[in-house]
Amino acid sequence: MRLLTHKHDGRLRLAALIGEQVVDLATMWAARTGETAPPDVRGLIEAGPALWARLAEALAAGDVASFARPLAGLELAAPIQNPSKVIAIGLNYWDHVREQGGEPPKRPLVFAKFPTAVTGPRDEIVWDPALTNKVDWEAELAVVIGRTARRVPAERAYDYVFGYTVANDVSARDLQFGDGQWVRGKSLDSFCPLGPWIVTRDEIPDPHALTIRCAVNDELVQDSTTAELIFGIPALIEFLSHAFTLLPGDVILTGTPDGVGHFRNPPRYLADGDLVTAEVGGIGALSNRCRVETRTSGSA
Ligand code: ZN
Repeated sequence: MRLLTHKHDGRLRLAALIGEQVVDLATMWAARTGETAPPDVRGLIEAGPALWARLAEALAAGDVASFARPLAGLELAAPIQNPSKVIAIGLNYWDHVREQGGEPPKRPLVFAKFPTAVTGPRDEIVWDPALTNKVDWEAELAVVIGRTARRVPAERAYDYVFGYTVANDVSARDLQFGDGQWVRGKSLDSFCPLGPWIVTRDEIPDPHALTIRCAVNDELVQDSTTAELIFGIPALIEFLSHAFTLLPGDVILTGTPDGVGHFRNPPRYLADGDLVTAEVGGIGALSNRCRVETRTSGSA
C-alpha cells in the first residue's frame, strides 16, 4: 500500500494511492465494513497488522472508483503528522564519508530532529536570515516504525518496519557546527519535509538497493544508492532499540549520500526561491521551494 495524507475542505484526510487515483479511506472503510477507519496514519499503524491486512484486501477487492479522486491537484501533507520522535543518523553513507575525507563512524551517529520540523512534500522550507545563512539539503531514505520496538535483534528488525518514505534532512550548517551539537540546526520549523507517501514494507523487498537523488532547481547535486549505507536498517533498529523504545509511527532518517552543499569547494547553500527535489527510487519525490523570511519576535 501507498498511504498519504492530504488537505481537503480544511481537514486532513487519510488516503491510499492506487495508480494516479487517491482512495479516501474513511469513506471507503465505512461503506465496506460499517466501521470507522483510523483518523490518521499513526492511528492506522497503531491499529496493527490485522487491520493493515483487511485494508489491503478491501483496496484490492475491486471497485474503489467511487471513493477516489485524482492525485493531480491534491494538496499533500506529510504522510505522518505527529511521530513521537524523528531520529536521524549522521555520516552513514560510504560516499559521504569519503567526500569529507574522514574515518567511518564505529557506531551509528545518532541525533534528533524535533517532530515540529516535519512538513509536507510540497510545502515551503522557510528560514529567517537572522538565524541562519547556511541552509543545506540532505536527501534520505526514511523508515517508519510499525510496532513498539525494545531491544530488537537485527535479524528480527524488519518485523518492526511499517514502511518507507523520503525525507529531506534540511540542515542549518552554521547552527549545527556552531552550537557544538546538532539538534537546533536540524530542527528549525519546516526543516523535515516528508513524503510524498509511505510505501509499506512488502512493496520494497530490498531497501538497500534504491537510487537516491537530490536536485536543486535543474541541477542534480546528489546521485547515489542506498547500497552505500554503512549501517543498514536492521543494524540501526537493533542499535537504537537497545537505547530507547521505538514507538509505532516513529521515523528514522537513515543518512545522506555525498553531494551536500557544505562539503563542496566552494561550499554552496540554498537560497530564496530555490526548488529542492529529493527522490528515492521506488518511493517518490519531495519538491520544496525555499523561502527566506525575516520574522519578528512574537509573530506566529
Ligand atoms: Zn541527514
